[in-house]
Amino acid sequence: MPKNTDDPNLPSPTVYMLDRKDVIVDVNDAWNAFATHNDAPELISERVIGNSLASYVTGDITKMYVQTVLQNVRMIGKPIHRHYRCDSPTLKRYMEMSIKPDGKNLQLAHKVIRTEDMTCTVHFNAALTPSEPQITKRCSSCGRVEAQKAVWVEADDLYAAKHGAKDVTVMVEYTICPVCEATASQ
Ligand SMILES: [Zn+2]
Repeated sequence: MPKNTDDPNLPSPTVYMLDRKDVIVDVNDAWNAFATHNDAPELISERVIGNSLASYVTGDITKMYVQTVLQNVRMIGKPIHRHYRCDSPTLKRYMEMSIKPDGKNLQLAHKVIRTEDMTCTVHFNAALTPSEPQITKRCSSCGRVEAQKAVWVEADDLYAAKHGAKDVTVMVEYTICPVCEATASQ
């Protein structure tokens, strides 16, 4: 399991292994460090090993997207790399996910490539009853939101520019935008 990134200022990659049924069978030390740092005791290794990856993925469309990517790696038998975002309310985190076959398992590594400050603070809450008209769609992969039909933009651009907001809370439904969807089976 890798422990260090190239840049010592960025956190070490979090790495975990999935079995053939997408059950988490191992995680690295950085995983636990990340869970502790983010005050998420429910994510420490003893609590996640043995659970299905799908139980940590929000939204049916996102679950399908993840499934497609994993199946694709199993089918082609070669590593793939995908860029995505894992933002905090104040920080854009540009991430890379690498998935590679490891015997019968898959090894998934997530690392921060760079970070950038949000121009306004944006809190996202996943809607309990999705698909209502007032709920904004957010892409689980690139983090953008659908500002209007088929127009996907950076959330801080939208809220800072449109509303002059400094700190907003947005109810969202997680999905995958068309641009990211197109990369699922590449
Ligand atoms: Zn997207």
